Amino acid sequence: MFAALLTVWQSDLVAADFPGVMVYATGGTIAGAAKSGLNTTTYKAGSMGVQDLLEAVPELKSIANISSKQISNVRSADIYQNTLLTLAKEAQEKLKDPNIHGIVVTHGTDTLEETAFFLDLTIRSPKPVVVVGSMRPATAISADGPMNLLQAVSLAASPEASNRGVLVSLNDRIGSAFYTVKTNTTALDTFRASEQGYLGMFIGAQPRFFYTAATPTAKPYFDVSTISSLPKVSIIYMHEDQSNEQIDSAIQAGAKGLIIAGSGNGAVPTTVRERLAELKKAGYPVIRSSRTGSGFTTTKPESLGAGILNPQKARILLMLALANQSDLAQIARYFNEP
Ligand code: GLU
Repeated sequence: MFAALLTVWQSDLVAADFPGVMVYATGGTIAGAAKSGLNTTTYKAGSMGVQDLLEAVPELKSIANISSKQISNVRSADIYQNTLLTLAKEAQEKLKDPNIHGIVVTHGTDTLEETAFFLDLTIRSPKPVVVVGSMRPATAISADGPMNLLQAVSLAASPEASNRGVLVSLNDRIGSAFYTVKTNTTALDTFRASEQGYLGMFIGAQPRFFYTAATPTAKPYFDVSTISSLPKVSIIYMHEDQSNEQIDSAIQAGAKGLIIAGSGNGAVPTTVRERLAELKKAGYPVIRSSRTGSGFTTTKPESLGAGILNPQKARILLMLALANQSDLAQIARYFNEP
C-alpha cells in the first residue's frame, strides 16, 4: 500500500516538474533522405515531417513533454522572410505559456546562422530557444540528426540555458546565435565562432556550460509583432575588377539598403568607393562587411562598418533596422559602430 502510494506520488512529482518543449520544424538536412546511406551531398533536404524526426528519437520522451509544429519543409536556401517572421511571432507567443520551458527550431544548416540571428534579435524571453540542424541526412550512415535533436531538446529543457539569447546546438557544441557561423561546407564540426568560442558542450545529452549566462555586447532587440514584411536588402560581393553595375542594379531592383562584402576590412575598388560616398550623401544605407570570414569591419568615410557581423548577418540586422525606420546614426549604433 505504502509502496503504491509512493509510486503515485513520485510520478505526480515527475509530471509536475517535467519540462515542456515546443519543436518547430522547417526542413533541412536533419529532415533529409536519400536512397543510399552513403549519399551525404545530393539527398533531398526537407523530406521528412516533424513527427518522423521525433519518432526516430524515442529517448526524447524521457527528457521533455514535446509538442511540435511544421512551419515549412524546405532546404534552408529556400527560407524566406515570411518564415522568419512566422517563427519569431509564434515562438514569442509560445514562450508565454508557463508549461513551455524552451523552444527548438530544426533547420537546414546552410542559412541556419541567419535564422538563428534573426530570432536572437526578435525574441525577448529568458527561456531558451535552440536552433539545431544536422550535416548528414537522416538516411546516412552515422546520421548526426538524432543526437543533435536529443541534445537540442535537452538544452531547451535545461534551466541552465536561460538568459543566454538564442543558442545554436550541433555536434556536441553549444554556441551563441549572435556569433556562430557555418565555416565548412560538409564537415560535422562546421559551426563555430572563431573569436568568441563555444558557450558550452554536451556530455551525452547533458549540457555543460563554460560560463554563467551572458548575452552579446549591445545586442539590439526588434519587436516584429506588428511587422508583416521586411525591406529588401542586397549583398554585393567585392573582388578585383568589381564595378558599380551590381550596386546600381540592386538599387534599381528595389533594395532599400546594401551590404558590401568587401575585401579585408571591407575594402572596395576606388570607383565603388566613390559610388558609396554618393549614396551616403543621399542618405541611402550601405553597410560594409568583409568577405574574410572573421574580424571587425570598421566605419570609413564612405560608409558604415558592420562591426563583427558577416555580410549575411549584417543583412538581417539592416532589414530589421530599416523596418523600424531608423536613421543612419541609429543604424550605426545597431552595428556597434561610432
Ligand atoms: N544543407 C542544406 C540545407 O541547409 C541542404 C542541402 C542542399 O540543398 O544541397 O537545407
